[in-house]
Amino acid sequence: MRAVRIREHGGLDRLVFEDVPDPVPGPGEVRVAVRAAGLNHLDTWVRRGVPGHTFPLPLVPGCDGAGVVDAIGPGVVARKVGERVVLAPGLSCGVCAACASGRDHLCRWYGIFGETRDGTCAPFVVAPERNVLALPANLSFETAAAFPLVYLTAWHMVVARAEMRPGETILVHAAGSGVSTAAIQIARLVGAGRVIATTSTPEKAAKAKALGADDVIDYGREDVVARVREIAGKGGVDVVIDHVGAATMGASLKVLAKGGRVVSCGATSGPKVEVHMNLVFFKGLSILGSTMGSLGEVHEVLAHVAAGRLAPVVDSVLPLSKLAEAHRRLEARDVFGKIVLVPGA
Ligand SMILES: [Zn+2]
Repeated sequence: MRAVRIREHGGLDRLVFEDVPDPVPGPGEVRVAVRAAGLNHLDTWVRRGVPGHTFPLPLVPGCDGAGVVDAIGPGVVARKVGERVVLAPGLSCGVCAACASGRDHLCRWYGIFGETRDGTCAPFVVAPERNVLALPANLSFETAAAFPLVYLTAWHMVVARAEMRPGETILVHAAGSGVSTAAIQIARLVGAGRVIATTSTPEKAAKAKALGADDVIDYGREDVVARVREIAGKGGVDVVIDHVGAATMGASLKVLAKGGRVVSCGATSGPKVEVHMNLVFFKGLSILGSTMGSLGEVHEVLAHVAAGRLAPVVDSVLPLSKLAEAHRRLEARDVFGKIVLVPGA
């Protein structure tokens, strides 16, 4: 098959199309003919490399994907050839204590397609059967490829980690990102009293409001802390969703009300943050980390997407041959929601 492979870390020119043997499904595995692949920030980290982290190169990138079951390995019971499916992006051992208790995202062998084994930027991907979920007929392959990683991440942050309650207020940074578009919708679904988002352009602000944000702050022109306090009242907000890190965490902690929770799933602007512990203990704040979510949560999110209660935001659909262009746009933040890649010219 003709697949994208990363042989060395670096710039956009490291996304090379090359001939790779068709993957063969082993015991308990399913081969999926990919009809759509979703692009995530993780793909750009895998391409550039992360200091101190070793990726198994050469590697086919791509964490999210949807398609049709093309072949099954020995012992597969739930999937059939010809079935429309979507992949759950997180891989785990399936037998350790964390996996057995439904917390497979905490498995010590946890991995992700396109990060720890070959991913979806290829005509075929092989996956363990438990990662291959039946795709409801009302969902397109493009929609299916757009939601798993970011909606799983946002669901776990808002529902499992922050334990957001109906009526609570939430601040979501960088509304145009995939995780943030998902967090805005999930906050609305759980009955948020007020959803405040930050973004950088009037166009993105209008889109964030259409998704369910009550108030949008232009972080380039406005003082985020002052504006959040003005909107939410002096007490501040109950929950903050932060994947920006160094540039935003100071503000995230300042705007939390007593008992507030900030959940971090990334640090795209840098990882080092100064924390005033007197603020944390006096106000009873929680600083929570979050990476991905459980396989069970993928099933929950899929049910909400199929029912139309969560609607993945597709910024654009591009041919896989334009993968470098897709990376460039994501890195330039020239995107609102997800870029989906489809096979073909
Ligand atoms: Zn495990």
